[in-house]
Amino acid sequence: MICDHANKLTIRSLGPWPEDTLRHAYSHANIRLTTTTAGFGGTRTWFLCSRCDRRCSILYDNPASGWVCRICASGHYASEVEAPIDRMYRRARKLRCRLGQHDPDMTFPFPGKPVGMHWSTYLRLRKEGLALEARLLDHMRRNLPALLRRRMIDQSLSMEAD
Ligand SMILES: [Zn+2]
Repeated sequence: MICDHANKLTIRSLGPWPEDTLRHAYSHANIRLTTTTAGFGGTRTWFLCSRCDRRCSILYDNPASGWVCRICASGHYASEVEAPIDRMYRRARKLRCRLGQHDPDMTFPFPGKPVGMHWSTYLRLRKEGLALEARLLDHMRRNLPALLRRRMIDQSLSMEAD
């Protein structure tokens, strides 16, 4: 079962743009297109699944492997298919929420012990939360050059498309 709130993209939503225009626009998001000949000499545009290369008319956003077909997306909840770093991030945010922080922004100081929570529970959650956040910050620090490079490439491509 695919989550109802999963982001999806339908081939009909692309509109009547020429195939080359679509192909260029969607290559930014690593979405590939292909065509088949339809009756009366026309062509039909399809997506290609980023995992199995199957032709399809609907793609589902999968945090771990990009835009995939129904078969590759089915049976997986977002939390099952998310990348380990995303799972770590979600867990860190969830810990802050459990400790009473309404906006689990990691730039805020780590929350104090909520009223009614045992100190042993708080100290265990605090230790886990701080360890997760340290690993996330280390991951971001190590990947910053690559992220900045990718951002510059995306910006220059969008300037080309304008
Ligand atoms: Zn697939």
